[in-house]
Amino acid sequence: MQQKELKDYYKNTLAEIMNIEEKIKELETKEDVKEYKSLTSNLRTKRADLEGLKKAIDYSIMNECNHLYVLSKEKFSDIRYGIPDRYYPCCIKCGLDSSVATKYYDELNQKQKTMQLILSKNDGLPKGRYLKDDDNYTISCPSSSLAEELYKEIIRNNPSISDDDTEIMFREKLKQRQKVKYKNR
Ligand SMILES: [Zn+2]
Repeated sequence: MQQKELKDYYKNTLAEIMNIEEKIKELETKEDVKEYKSLTSNLRTKRADLEGLKKAIDYSIMNECNHLYVLSKEKFSDIRYGIPDRYYPCCIKCGLDSSVATKYYDELNQKQKTMQLILSKNDGLPKGRYLKDDDNYTISCPSSSLAEELYKEIIRNNPSISDDDTEIMFREKLKQRQKVKYKNR
C-alpha cells in the first residue's frame, strides 16, 4: 500500500471507531443496556466470591480433618528428583496428598494449591493416623483417587463408622479390588 492509501485507510478506520463509540454511548443510555451492564458486573463479582468460598471450604475441610493416611503411588512429575514414582501418604477422608509438595505450583489445580498451603503451614503433613495392613505396615494403595473412592464407599453405608472399623473395612475393600484386578488380567 502506498503512503496515501495507508493514511486514508487510517482515517477511515478512525472514523468507524468514532461512529461505533457514538452508537455504544447511545445504547448505554437505554435502561435494558444499563441493567445488562450491572448484571454482568454483579455476576463477575459473585463468581469470584464463589471461587473464594470454595477455597475456604476446601481449606477448612482439610484443616479440621482427623486424617486417616494410607500410602499412594504417585507419578513423579518433578524431574528435579529424577525418580519415576514413589509412595506418598494421603488422607482417605479429605484427600490431602503429600505428593503435591514435590510438584510445581503452576501444575497444581486449586485444591492441590490449598493442600500445599496446609503442608507449608504445618511444616509437612499434619498429625493423623496411618492405617495398617495385616502385617502392621501402612496400607499401600495404587492411587490417592482409589483411596478416596474406597473411603466414600465405606461411609456411604456406614456414615458414623469409627476409625478402627474404617481401617478394617478399607483393608478388606482394597483386597477385593486387587483380587478383581488380578482375575481380569
Ligand atoms: Zn484428612
